[in-house]
Amino acid sequence: MKHIKELETIGFKPTAKKQFYTYKKDGYYIIAQSLVGGKLGLLASVKSDNALISYLDKLTIHDENIVRAYYDDYECGIVVKMRKSAEEIDALLNDLVAYFMSSGSKQVCHGCHEVKKISPVHIHGDIDLLCEECILKKETEEVKPEYKKGMLGAVIACIIPAVIWAFTHRLGYVVSATGILFGLCSYLGYKRSGHKMSKKGWLLTFFAAALMMHVGELFAMGFAIQAAFASSSTATIGYWQAFVLLPAFLSDPEVIGVTLAYFAYTYVFIFITYLLIYFLHERKM
Ligand SMILES: [Zn+2]
Repeated sequence: MKHIKELETIGFKPTAKKQFYTYKKDGYYIIAQSLVGGKLGLLASVKSDNALISYLDKLTIHDENIVRAYYDDYECGIVVKMRKSAEEIDALLNDLVAYFMSSGSKQVCHGCHEVKKISPVHIHGDIDLLCEECILKKETEEVKPEYKKGMLGAVIACIIPAVIWAFTHRLGYVVSATGILFGLCSYLGYKRSGHKMSKKGWLLTFFAAALMMHVGELFAMGFAIQAAFASSSTATIGYWQAFVLLPAFLSDPEVIGVTLAYFAYTYVFIFITYLLIYFLHERKM
């Protein structure tokens, strides 16, 4: 089987999510999901006994194209290699459903594990087999975005542009172009650890970028102070010693003026990056 779409030839139906398909045989629902690495997951929600485990074990022993088969917490799953043909998958499922029937395995809701009328639903970005009550419960359940994790992810991702900032600061205003990196890294870091983008998400993403830019600037100032001492040639100081002089350096209005200008230009680059991400990517989601 080259593509999950071929499952349609054996009676699977496409769902709202393109990597998921559903199938019903003799009252039993099966969800198929394409997995990474050329694999296909087949899932049923049934109440059975330990004999099902040995049935599944036998499958994995006798078929090299079955990667894994398990029965755990009312979930019966079989992971097969996509190289299996649609006909072979059909035969496998026919046999599985026949086993469910002969062993008296009852189909249950994947949420509450009760024997109820269930249906495949698209909920919170997943396809699941649920009863009416569980669907209602899940629909009203708020998915809480993980703000703290998202913010932390954005801060960590911004270490890269912060380091670049610290080392390229002496090149002048060109350093403001790292705003593109600050924008991109903070966004990707937030999305990776948090959830969907929201107003609060954008705000935290921006704070992370701004925070790390200031951290980068502190280190850049350390380099600047050290360089100033080196050029005066009367004394040289170590990099960490330069930090002791940072407060005096920061009270110089000229230094503050230049630094603020750097920040302002960088903010412009960060905002342009966010706008591009928003219009080219986020709005479509
Ligand atoms: Zn339920």
